[in-house]
Amino acid sequence: MEKKIEQLLGQERRICITGHVHPDGDCVGSCLGLRSYLLTLDPALTVDVFLEPSPASFSILAGFEKIRMYQEEDGDYDLCFVLDAGERGRLGANASCLEHAGRIICIDHHRTQRAFVEEQIVRPEASATCELLFDMMDEEKISLETAECLYLGIAHDTGVFRHSNVTRHTMEAAGALIGKGVRHSKIVNDTFFAKSYLQNQLLGRALVESIVFCEGQCIVSMVSLKTMDFYRAAHEDLEGIVDQLRLTRGVEVAIFISETEFQVYKVSLRSNEKVDVSRVAEYFGGGGHLRAAGCTMTGTFYDVVNNLSEQIAPQLGM
Ligand code: AMP
Ligand code: MN
Ligand code: MN
Repeated sequence: MEKKIEQLLGQERRICITGHVHPDGDCVGSCLGLRSYLLTLDPALTVDVFLEPSPASFSILAGFEKIRMYQEEDGDYDLCFVLDAGERGRLGANASCLEHAGRIICIDHHRTQRAFVEEQIVRPEASATCELLFDMMDEEKISLETAECLYLGIAHDTGVFRHSNVTRHTMEAAGALIGKGVRHSKIVNDTFFAKSYLQNQLLGRALVESIVFCEGQCIVSMVSLKTMDFYRAAHEDLEGIVDQLRLTRGVEVAIFISETEFQVYKVSLRSNEKVDVSRVAEYFGGGGHLRAAGCTMTGTFYDVVNNLSEQIAPQLGM
């Protein structure tokens, strides 16, 4: 049994919540879900959420419009929750709110967690931070608004209940949230499956330009800064490309590389059955889960692919 949120709380009145850079569905869902739950427990609390700008489609969630970056003027907090982030470096500029918090609690599900605060609740077996938060909430007190946040987070981190991280418990949590009346179909269609014209163009391009290696067991594609500039694309426009690459028949590892600065790349890794991509990502200073992980790498595209390939091939028995 997980410790309940209520048991974690002391006399704290000013609470802030933050999560990882390039916020994804689980990050935004868990931060807004916890905010909504805390305000249900006590509407007089101050609960602020600090995150980098995130996809506009998440505005379906209550409290989305209140999300902002932490600034010195925000002052001190009695308590800070850090959600869905395995290390301090993943918080980007919002890490500065940790310096202004009396107490810090990290709630996460990354298997590559590097302890960075005293109070940590980390469950790698949870499909999403939102699933773990669900366990830490009293079901009776989960409002429809809170439920929608948690449902969105679980749906996103499981690829809408397709990935191997889904357990019986994941489905039971999702079932309980559906029982609260969440707009489950709208949430997955509007925030996970729907793509803008630009997103589809970038996806198409990445698929056309992809290369297979390791005898067809790996697939890689890259979007350069030049291409990003040409399309005036943002990082969030690349969401989902790696998942499409992973569906290529015969492929065990899919790699999607996006250039963020000249010869600096955000690398996304996915695997199907055998390869522990969290180990590969961790080797390059990143982290993640068994079948989904990421890291930052530098050099030319060919350096990056060669270096990755050296770490992946042994796991493929090559
Ligand atoms: P992504 O490929 O960005 O969807 O990320 C897949 C998983 O890897 C997520 O759980 C991320 O939190 C994690 N991840 C991605 N990039 C990094 C990184 N640079 N360092 C640590 N974990 C990462
Ligand atoms: Mn995340
Ligand atoms: Mn997550």
